[in-house]
Amino acid sequence: MQLTAARFTKNDIARYPFLKAAMKYMKIPDLKIEDLMSPELEEILNRAEERVEEAILYIRVFRKLKEEDIEISSYPVAMILVTATGSSFIKKRYALAEAKQAYEDLKGETKEKILRFAQDFGWELVSNRNSEIPFEFTLSFTDYLRNTTHLRRKEWKLVNRLLSSGNVYLTRNETARLLSEEARKHIEQRLEIKEIPKFPPKIMEMAEKIKKLSVEKIGKAEMKGFPKTITQKAFPPCIEALYQAVSAGRHLSHIGRFALTSFLVNIGMPSENVIELFRSFSDFNERMTRYQVEHIAGERGSRTRYIPPKCGTLRTHGVCTNPDELCQKVHHPLVYYRKKSKQSG
Ligand code: SF4
Repeated sequence: MQLTAARFTKNDIARYPFLKAAMKYMKIPDLKIEDLMSPELEEILNRAEERVEEAILYIRVFRKLKEEDIEISSYPVAMILVTATGSSFIKKRYALAEAKQAYEDLKGETKEKILRFAQDFGWELVSNRNSEIPFEFTLSFTDYLRNTTHLRRKEWKLVNRLLSSGNVYLTRNETARLLSEEARKHIEQRLEIKEIPKFPPKIMEMAEKIKKLSVEKIGKAEMKGFPKTITQKAFPPCIEALYQAVSAGRHLSHIGRFALTSFLVNIGMPSENVIELFRSFSDFNERMTRYQVEHIAGERGSRTRYIPPKCGTLRTHGVCTNPDELCQKVHHPLVYYRKKSKQSG
């Protein structure tokens, strides 16, 4: 690896607090969960909460560099808050938001700083010294592959890259993009805690507030990996058949009605729209329909949102209609919808 004299400053660490080099700048290096209740750490705790809220609302964590100590120490505390939510969606969102912010900052860094950043992650990144090739860096093939597996755009495919002696040429922006991808994975890994500790009530309260915010702003459907807008072309054949039947005012069996309603509310259709759908029935009873739909949506009674029956149950009751190729690979209509919408998206 090419050695570089660039050192991280405190300001750098405030912008990239997930680096290994950050440890020595932490005001509270051996932070214990109980310490978070200390009044001295209130500012750090508040900034940590703000970091997670920004991640949910804007998929970014904007930097506040006037108070570098608070900024640096609020990162591990934010990680604790994210862990306390127990939500895999919030964990992914937080990692993505930190990485996106890092990408924006990295693009403007000096070459030496980018090399130092790569060194922190153990990358084999060097400056390109061949003036005839218009790229700033070369990266080892293995580091390149490890960080491009999730990148879909064709420019990342190895066949479209310029390679020399096992190294891939990269522009500055591309290097920043791949480093931010490494940061995202690193943060996600740190959030994968198998045994979640018992958090103090105040932390749990904050975690609940964060979860509520994410449901309000993002919606339960998207949090479960469904698309933001309802995609009818991703409906599984059984649900499409039920949907067509109800739209034409044809009666559905009890289980067909339950499967359709629970499917629609789980993919994000508001109860009001589901109720409207049943309006074309000749014996439509608004009060009764509203009661049933809102009950299935978890807006009444036990507040439990019901999910549709599995494929096996739908098959037994004759609701499974014209299963297609994707149906062979799924066991549940919601899994079908998630997979199909990703394919078509
Ligand atoms: S296999 Fe499952 S998803 Fe496919 S049509 Fe049958 S019940 Fe629906």
